Amino acid sequence: MAENTKEKTIKARPPVVVVLGHVDHGKTKLLDTIRKTKVAEKESGGITQHVGAYQIDIATSDKRQAIKRITFLDTPGHEAFSAIRSRGAKIADIAILVVAADESVKPQTKEAIKIVEAEKIPLIVAINKIDKEGANSQKVKQDLAAENILVEDWGGKVPSIEISAKDNRNIPELLEMILLVAELEELKEDTDSPASGVIIESRLDKRRGYLASVLVQKGIVKLGDWIVAGTVIGKIKSMEDFAGALITEARPSQPVLITGWPSAPNVGKIFAVTDSKEKASRIAEDNVDLTPLFLFIKEPMPEISESTAKKRILNLVLKADFSGSLEAVDSALNTIKSEEVGYNVVRYDIGNITEADVKSAIHSNGQIVGFRVNTEESAQKIADKESVKISSFDVIYDLVEYIRKELGGLLEPEIERTQLGRLKVLATFKKDARSQIIGGKVMSGKITRGGIVEVFRNGTKIALGKIGQLQQNKADSSEVKEGQEAGIRFDPLPNQPSQEIKEGDILEVYEEKKIERTL
Ligand code: GDP
Repeated sequence: MAENTKEKTIKARPPVVVVLGHVDHGKTKLLDTIRKTKVAEKESGGITQHVGAYQIDIATSDKRQAIKRITFLDTPGHEAFSAIRSRGAKIADIAILVVAADESVKPQTKEAIKIVEAEKIPLIVAINKIDKEGANSQKVKQDLAAENILVEDWGGKVPSIEISAKDNRNIPELLEMILLVAELEELKEDTDSPASGVIIESRLDKRRGYLASVLVQKGIVKLGDWIVAGTVIGKIKSMEDFAGALITEARPSQPVLITGWPSAPNVGKIFAVTDSKEKASRIAEDNVDLTPLFLFIKEPMPEISESTAKKRILNLVLKADFSGSLEAVDSALNTIKSEEVGYNVVRYDIGNITEADVKSAIHSNGQIVGFRVNTEESAQKIADKESVKISSFDVIYDLVEYIRKELGGLLEPEIERTQLGRLKVLATFKKDARSQIIGGKVMSGKITRGGIVEVFRNGTKIALGKIGQLQQNKADSSEVKEGQEAGIRFDPLPNQPSQEIKEGDILEVYEEKKIERTL
């Protein structure tokens, strides 16, 4: 993509644009529409891989710079984007906030606004789905104003545009707007500094080994350079642009897929490029920190506080196709909140489910959850033999719901008590360590075999137990009704107060039902 002859004249750096907004408001559709309309067929035809970003060129009337370029991040959802942010790496220059005209501002719209404000990057509002019945752009603008986002025709500074990602309406105008905002930002291309940037995706490819998509921010990344991200050092073996074309150089704002890593660098890590292995090692040493392999996992080993000690924990081995997904899964799982139960990931990794994963699950008495990965045959065999659960999902939502259900299964069931009846003790017989035989009359309701019994004397509870055996007229019976006499074997419950029952005591009998709870 870089043309050496033009290098000296191009000074502006293409803006890097992130698309944010509520789920289903059309972020993906917008990114697809832009990609389809702007990326030439022969280029887009080659896209078979996930790079996490793409670039488009726009012809303008500006003679000095007839072609202008924009980089779009299309990381799944904005989870990877937030992982990058949480590491303090700034990646986007401009944010497009997509708001569906029929639904207006929703929780994730507000979340996106907070992100943009924290990032201090300029915002463009794209009011989408204006083709739909019920579209109401005015309401969107009004609701945005309530969030302190004042669009231009409401007297504010935020540009907004009504679009239909589906019908390709006003898309060129939106792109124009991006270029205009970028111009005001005066983004300069710095090609003199040593190259650096951010890791936006990483994954394991069966054939090519570990791959990482990176976004170059400064300098020029060249084939054969040494590259360091965190503590992972690689030698760039090949570079491809977002369309899969082999390249030898990558410039600022360019997304590029790099091979030559010994392991997967983490999403959100800043990378640096050097010309020798020694320098790379020194940078990697400086990068060593004591945080775990995947920094985004806030609690790989939950602190054993009093509350977590009591928590019932589900151990998980989590596998995903690439690290962006892993982070997305992790942040989605983090939305399951409970005081009583929780999950603990004993192993995170990218790639298919292997024997090693099954072994981890066996050791931790846990189970394996895969996201967009397959299970190797040998792993499946051991799992079947050792009864290790393996569940795979293609949709994050389904995965989260599955875990939610599994965690729900760990919750103590709720006990619902219903009062059945009362019995007055008329006679007592044998008592041994485990039980006591008594006789009495049912004063009200009924009593049943297996019922829970509270024994009262002068209004004070003196014992708690169960009706172990119930007889009426010396014959076993499952229940005895009001007005009738009954013989009872009273079994005290373990660890409960249990005084000897005497004549005149009152037995209150309950039935207990376990109600399964859900999260
Ligand atoms: P995301 O979750 O924000 O990425 O939303 P998607 O891009 O997946 O869009 C959600 C749904 O809305 C999909 O069924 C799209 O086809 C649809 N959609 C997106 N943009 C438009 C639009 O401009 N008009 C209409 N009618 N539907 C749209």
